[in-house]
Amino acid sequence: MSVVAYVITDACRDHVEAFCVAVCPVDCIHPAAGEPGHDEARQLYIDPDACTDCDACIDECPWGAIHPAGELPAQHAAAAERNAAWYRGPGAAFRSTA
Ligand code: SF4
Ligand code: SF4
Repeated sequence: MSVVAYVITDACRDHVEAFCVAVCPVDCIHPAAGEPGHDEARQLYIDPDACTDCDACIDECPWGAIHPAGELPAQHAAAAERNAAWYRGPGAAFRSTA
């Protein structure tokens, strides 16, 4: 059982700047530039098991792509599962918890 604290939606289209990655204190946003899978990823994802709900990333995103899971806009309702699923699949190596 996991709770997705914060979620990145597909409004994250131009992720090369990755301001969110730079401020995350627990390094739970992947795949950042230079990491495996970055070139193929449509967006970055937050590890729901590692995010500490610290709120640091939201204001850093120029696209407004990051939301608390409980406050996702209706059109982005699927984003929470998309973030979690990425860490069960292509991003499994980045998971901080077993
Ligand atoms: S969530 Fe926002 S700041 Fe982070 S990579 Fe995507 S667009 Fe950039
Ligand atoms: S809320 Fe904090 S811990 Fe969670 S992804 Fe954003 S910066 Fe990282």
